[in-house]
Amino acid sequence: MTLKPGSAIGILGGGQLGRMLASAAAKLGFDVHVYCPEPRSPAARVAASHWDFDYDDADALKKFARACDLVTVEFENVPVAAARAIEAAGTPFCPGPRALEVAQDRAEEKTFLAGAGIAVAPWRPVDSLEDLRAAQAEIGPETILKTRRDGYDGKGQVRLGADANLAVAWDAVGQHPCILEQVVDFSLELSAIVARRADGVSASWEPPHNVHAGGILRTSRVPAPIGPQTKAQAIRSALDLADALDYVGVLALELFVMLDGSLIANEFAPRVHNSGHWTPEACDTDQFENHIRAIAGWPLGATTRFHDAEMINLIGEDVSVDPADLADGVSLTLYGKREARAGRKMGHIVRRIRVAETGPAGD
Ligand code: AMP
Repeated sequence: MTLKPGSAIGILGGGQLGRMLASAAAKLGFDVHVYCPEPRSPAARVAASHWDFDYDDADALKKFARACDLVTVEFENVPVAAARAIEAAGTPFCPGPRALEVAQDRAEEKTFLAGAGIAVAPWRPVDSLEDLRAAQAEIGPETILKTRRDGYDGKGQVRLGADANLAVAWDAVGQHPCILEQVVDFSLELSAIVARRADGVSASWEPPHNVHAGGILRTSRVPAPIGPQTKAQAIRSALDLADALDYVGVLALELFVMLDGSLIANEFAPRVHNSGHWTPEACDTDQFENHIRAIAGWPLGATTRFHDAEMINLIGEDVSVDPADLADGVSLTLYGKREARAGRKMGHIVRRIRVAETGPAGD
């Protein structure tokens, strides 16, 4: 299926990723409908129309689906039932409800990644304090207890050590179903961002080096200080995952690089990704446009990178940066959020580092 310019693309979710996707879709001549329970969301501010309803409003979802030629997603915690309702109304949903289902549950996600031949850290499912004690004895002492669902940006996580009080940790995660994961002694964190069309044709970007603090992404820099084999393996893993999911659109696989250069996958995002925010400034075609091209059945654009770059997230009060202070080669993107709460992603800047001597990601 190929969508013609003038067709309507729906986006479930109204955050900054939806805002940048909506702008990319509008650039290619599509009308964008944003479905998000929050009124005046960042995406709604730049879209042709906004549907301000809950994700469990079956009637609204059906009308939304009928108003759109295709629906995609900018936020992986949209209920799977909403995606299925879109499909049931006869409107294609990309990347498909299965990708959401897998990404929403850390236990399913780890199992799926391993099944696709992608290494993950040792982990155990934990449904009770007894499970936690047994798992900690097996894979401890340095571990992280993570809720299976609804955790992002380091939320719903407790780090454990040899003297951890397991009962307190179990209470701290609300006694919700969890996984216990061994702490990995990595040298750095990467993400591999790829685009895939329904016919399997794909594209990839240079994998950025990501630095987190307090569980939140702070910076992404390209190129990452890794060798060509590690780079190729990172991209290969993300493409293997996309193939295994029969994925359509852009996905990001977050990886730990071990001291020997081998890779361990942490998690994936079934959507465009914060660590790819440098692609509009540094590449021929950015992650947002290639997501729209992939779901619309258009040819993917080249992902050639023109220069090295660093993306810096503006979190909470960081956003009070004065545009007048920005040096040449520094580009500012703001998400239109009206309130700068602590830990909230408000915008980002991209800094051009120097003209790249290297070409596009090695594939
Ligand atoms: P997550 O919520 O799983 O994306 O984790 C947020 C951040 O916590 C990651 O980007 C890592 O910096 C750190 N982290 C998560 N899992 C592990 C692990 N198994 N070992 C070491 N660090 C981890």
